[in-house]
Amino acid sequence: MSDLNKSTLLEIINLIKLKKISSLEITNHFIKNIEKSKNLNCFITTCFEKTIKSAKDFDAKKDFSGLLSGVPLAVKDLFCTKNTKTTAGSKILSNFIPTYESTVTDNLWSEGAILLGKLNCDEFAMGSSNETSFFGNTINPVGKNLVPGGSSGGSASALAANLTPATIGTDTGGSIRQPASFTGTVGLKPTYGLCSRWGIVAFASSLDQAGPMTKNVEDCALLLEAMSGYDEKDSTSINKKKENYSKNLNPKINGLKIGIPKEYRVENMPKEIDGLWKKGIDILKNSGAKIIDISLPHTKYALPTYYIVAPAEASSNLARYDGIKFGYRSIKGKNLIEMYENTRGEGFGDEVKRRVLIGTYVLSSGYYDAYYLKAQKVRRLIKNDFDKCFKGVDAILTPSTPSSAFKIGEKSNDPISMYLNDIFTVPVNLAGIPAISIPAGHDSKGYPLGLQLISKALDEQKILNLAFAMEKSIDFKQSFNRWWE
Ligand code: GLN
Repeated sequence: MSDLNKSTLLEIINLIKLKKISSLEITNHFIKNIEKSKNLNCFITTCFEKTIKSAKDFDAKKDFSGLLSGVPLAVKDLFCTKNTKTTAGSKILSNFIPTYESTVTDNLWSEGAILLGKLNCDEFAMGSSNETSFFGNTINPVGKNLVPGGSSGGSASALAANLTPATIGTDTGGSIRQPASFTGTVGLKPTYGLCSRWGIVAFASSLDQAGPMTKNVEDCALLLEAMSGYDEKDSTSINKKKENYSKNLNPKINGLKIGIPKEYRVENMPKEIDGLWKKGIDILKNSGAKIIDISLPHTKYALPTYYIVAPAEASSNLARYDGIKFGYRSIKGKNLIEMYENTRGEGFGDEVKRRVLIGTYVLSSGYYDAYYLKAQKVRRLIKNDFDKCFKGVDAILTPSTPSSAFKIGEKSNDPISMYLNDIFTVPVNLAGIPAISIPAGHDSKGYPLGLQLISKALDEQKILNLAFAMEKSIDFKQSFNRWWE
């Protein structure tokens, strides 16, 4: 049998379908890998008894009708899983066992997948390095002292280290694409409304989207197909027919027009990133695409706009954590108000408190117009920029991040430099449009770097096709000696 640690999601599905391996055998393979990889700190919760029981049930029934028949999958610990602890990386939810299942994970189980465990993430998905997690930082298999990116850092590391054949994350300002870029994996942030938000612990509701993280583009198309779809329980869910992304995957991109936004050529961008971008442009040209220079003039306002809108929504969403009905409750305090204060003071970490403070400030009556309302207006201008460009181009190519993976502790005391890491990813969330990050090369230290393809709303198939074509030319290779085991 081929090396299971090199197998893609699709290959594993086929091995199960062809009965070359049982669901239980493949599940045990990943459980063994997880147990040997505790040093990476990818998992917050495992539920192996349940996982093994589900695999045995699958093998007894052998129902191959689903897209993900018999495959074990670990998911970010932001997705509520019925009867399995869901923490959002926070102390305040460290004892929370949901009585319901998120729609997206429910879709995966309906397609035959099995829950392998819950993956580490920044607290309430606020972060770019996985260092804000109450459960400790996750380590990037690329290097001992490297962050995996965030907030879906546990997902990205687990995938790169072969602790799960594929995974899902959430992306509010880059949390799927940036960790994918830092770990040499593929990550897609779908159009806002394509995947249901129901049952996902909320961060910033107008920006949050769930999406696939995989080893290659084919797997990405398949997983997106499995997890997406209309959900009447989410009022922002788009009511449209389910797409067949994997079947329609086509690397022929001849004649497509690709925009290169001049505003993404930021100051102090490392030469290697610029070089990688040029390499991407050449690959697209050689595949018959037409390269067009474009302008997204409001790009420079995207980061400040995001860091007003996201904390504003977070401060409102996080008001529910009061220690009354669920989650952590402080035993300190002489009355109800003091109990609230102590619960929130002890239950939230520093980054979450910072966002709640910023959010409360920008929404307060004296500052609402100057900050929140202004940010909403600028958000519209950013979206208008994209709308205008997509009249002339099919997709946009940019780097995914302004740097490769940085060291643990390197930015954790400097929030602004941490926030700057989101510079290429946040405009897409503000505009509600889809984007994919694919591994495109390495820097001089040998760390992976990603390129990002962006399209107009609901054009996921187009960026998947472009990414598929680029992936074939790039032929990105990454192998580890599993130094952490
Ligand atoms: N790094 C960004 C933040 O901290 C994005 C996080 C995310 O996409 N969840 O807000």
